[in-house]
Amino acid sequence: MSDVKEREAPTAGDARAIQLDAIVVGGGLGGLYALHRLRRLGLKALAFEAGSGVGGTWFWNRYPGARCDVESMEYSYAFDDDLQQEWSWPERYGTQPEILRYINHVADRFDLRRDVRLNTRVTSAEFDRASSTWTVRTDKGDVAQAPFCIMATGNLSTPRVPDFKGIGSFKGQWYHSGLWPHKGVDFSGLRVGVIGTGSSGVQMIPLIAQQARHLHVFQRTANFSLPARNGPMDHEKERAHKEDYPARRAAAYETPFGIAGFPAPTKPAMTVTEEERQAQYETKWAEGGSISFLYSYTDLLVNKEANDTASEFVRNKIRSIVRDPAVAELLAPKDHPIGTKRLCLDTNYYETYNRDNVTLVDVRSAPIQEITESGVRTANADYELDAIVFATGFDAMTGALREIDIRVGNGPTLAEKWAGGPLTYLGLMVSGFPNMFTITGPGSPSVKTQMIVAIEQHMDWIAGCLATMRARGMTRIEPSPEAERDWVQHVNDVADSTLYPLANSWYVGANIPGKPRVFMPYVGGFAGYKKKCDAVAENGYEGFVMSR
Ligand SMILES: Cc1cc2nc3c(=O)[nH]c(=O)nc-3n(C[C@H](O)[C@H](O)[C@H](O)COP(=O)(O)OP(=O)(O)OC[C@H]3O[C@@H](n4cnc5c(N)ncnc54)[C@H](O)[C@@H]3O)c2cc1C
Repeated sequence: MSDVKEREAPTAGDARAIQLDAIVVGGGLGGLYALHRLRRLGLKALAFEAGSGVGGTWFWNRYPGARCDVESMEYSYAFDDDLQQEWSWPERYGTQPEILRYINHVADRFDLRRDVRLNTRVTSAEFDRASSTWTVRTDKGDVAQAPFCIMATGNLSTPRVPDFKGIGSFKGQWYHSGLWPHKGVDFSGLRVGVIGTGSSGVQMIPLIAQQARHLHVFQRTANFSLPARNGPMDHEKERAHKEDYPARRAAAYETPFGIAGFPAPTKPAMTVTEEERQAQYETKWAEGGSISFLYSYTDLLVNKEANDTASEFVRNKIRSIVRDPAVAELLAPKDHPIGTKRLCLDTNYYETYNRDNVTLVDVRSAPIQEITESGVRTANADYELDAIVFATGFDAMTGALREIDIRVGNGPTLAEKWAGGPLTYLGLMVSGFPNMFTITGPGSPSVKTQMIVAIEQHMDWIAGCLATMRARGMTRIEPSPEAERDWVQHVNDVADSTLYPLANSWYVGANIPGKPRVFMPYVGGFAGYKKKCDAVAENGYEGFVMSR
């Protein structure tokens, strides 16, 4: 039974408002940890989740091949040592069903479900300055009120189906990777089209190819992918990892990507010979994994000449795997330095293009014009299909927040404030929107880290902040406009000092027509970012204004 009580709402007409200490939006890894952490503070909290189950990303993305690309011993919660000792991951990289099973286990183990309202989408959140109260409304007619609102809405939770002409006329079935049917999809004997070759496309294409009669892959932009080298969990490695878990988790906090276990690079790429570089890249290619590859040298993400050596190494690998030279050239990315877009991990991705039942269609040179009754029409051909899969990604980082009508009195909505791109202080709060926290919000390392570490760091910081406010008798907190402006400037300056801006990526919203081009994640490294957050708190929440 929930300990949440309902009573008449003072500002919600005759609706019954649920009175809480904190409202959480989202029931993924972030929302669940927020609930747990708030409870440990003795606060009464309730989470609203649009899906019919908890798990967020791992609830929605059920496409074939969906799995994490950070090793599971790392991609898991650190907050409870018993939990991490008890749980066993069967493979090096957990599959979507395994990760979802783990999240459900966490929800049960920590008795979180009683405070999650499923099938309920938050539509608006309004802050009343006089009473310092957030009023949150949902599509089910719920009204909840609390002094604090925690947005755990996810960075990759707003699937984007491109607005192709004629999509409604298609007689076959179409799917989006991020809205996959729970009963699964059997592509046996079908002519299938996959549109999109980002991370999800790269994971699903080899598996769909094994089922489909024929698979057409529609590629606009080639992405770099490295071999995952997945396999059954090595039990000796697991034992050693578990023995050392707390120290390994602590070590992750000292790394740029929130992932421990790889020796930090010591040399710039151009200080060694060509032979040494090739040998190093070969070792990393054989090991599998993206962080380890990017850790080959200190400067792969800041020095174009250095990056070119790594990019060319992978392009040559693609050329050596894919038998048709024309197909290999199309698959070899040339428009961005490796690592500046999300670096994919795969199992037999490039090998799949050697199959007789797989055709790569270049929709950069001949764009998709429309979806017809019977398939896809590009500028130079018609493709007859029984099923289309959109692996077209998400309105990343800001999509879920912009969809909620978030406002403070008569001021601008959050979407209006962010019309030119997201503005936050530390990716944790937004000036003008008091008492609203964003977990892994834009302007924080977020998608450039092992995200569970980022979620825990954010929520621990928020919990510390709430405890401090309580101890000081403060009821309201928001960043100063100056602190926000300076942080946004810093986020951009750091991004500009790297190679990241050279890519047209979803990090800058390039996949969403009309979205302002602003670099959204903080790429200064997780370790430095955490130190900054800690220093801000130690210095009396520098840059924030607290009041009562
Ligand atoms: C296919 C895929 C693979 C990934 N692999 C990795 C990986 O290997 N390593 C890694 O670190 N990260 C990975 N990620 C990123 C992943 O999103 C995070 O690791 C993590 O799951 C984020 O958890 P979250 O709770 O912050 O957000 P989410 O898991 O996105 O959960 C947010 C939840 O909020 C809900 N929600 C949103 N808006 C509303 C609303 N208005 N009302 C009610 N509910 C709402 C959504 O339904 C969703 O369930 C991957 C993402 C994808 C899509």
